[in-house]
Amino acid sequence: MRRVIIAGNWKMNKTIAEAIELVNGLKRDLSDIDNIDIVVVPPYTALSEVSDMIINSNIELGAQDVYWENEGAFTGEVSPVMLKDVGVKYVVIGHSERRIYFHETNETVNKKVKAALKAGLIPIMCVGEKLEEREKNLTFKVIKDHVEGGLKGLSKEEALNIIIAYEPVWAIGTGKTATSKQAEEAHSYIRKLLRGMYDDDAAEEIRIQYGGSVKAENIKDLINQEDIDGALVGGASLKIDQFVPIVRESAKKIM
Ligand code: PEP
Repeated sequence: MRRVIIAGNWKMNKTIAEAIELVNGLKRDLSDIDNIDIVVVPPYTALSEVSDMIINSNIELGAQDVYWENEGAFTGEVSPVMLKDVGVKYVVIGHSERRIYFHETNETVNKKVKAALKAGLIPIMCVGEKLEEREKNLTFKVIKDHVEGGLKGLSKEEALNIIIAYEPVWAIGTGKTATSKQAEEAHSYIRKLLRGMYDDDAAEEIRIQYGGSVKAENIKDLINQEDIDGALVGGASLKIDQFVPIVRESAKKIM
């Protein structure tokens, strides 16, 4: 049985003071939820503060990226060991903004996934097509390249420790959400790929989140699709009154 996971990717938003305010609100409003995983993904600068705040709460910590070396002369990068040290459990890898603005490739995503796993972090590996790729009927091909490229060389045991986030690029931050039918179609295709790469168990166990303009108004339809196990939420994770109903609605899913 797959446990629902809702993660809020704050992107490059929130000072430490703003992060404290948001996390205090989430702790207050979500303390009774114990049947799903709730993750906040602040910028690096707020990780330490948020990490201290969520001790003994039902909220877990994620980071937005990671480098693949543990230490050395890599100015500006943050290593898997450093993320573990600050209390991070999950790390987003291969977000489309990283792929587009910072030229990440399936190869760098794969290196990061492997390094994260080695350090005991849970990668949230993002995959998904751009609008022009969907329009050219390349959606499944892009998803296949992202999934196979990102998981290259991983054993089934390793793959069981990752989460995949299907995030159609045309739906991220645009207000356009994939319909629940489009999202479910992509998720079930990813499960089919996992079945081919590994086996039935892996396909059944690996969690797949949907991401792309998830809001309080559309989460119900999305989360109740068979192969959607949660959401990676951007914009709507920045406000308590938007993120709380997303988490609450998701906690109602009967798995
Ligand atoms: C994201 O950043 O992963 C995302 C899905 O953003 P938004 O919810 O704002 O579309």
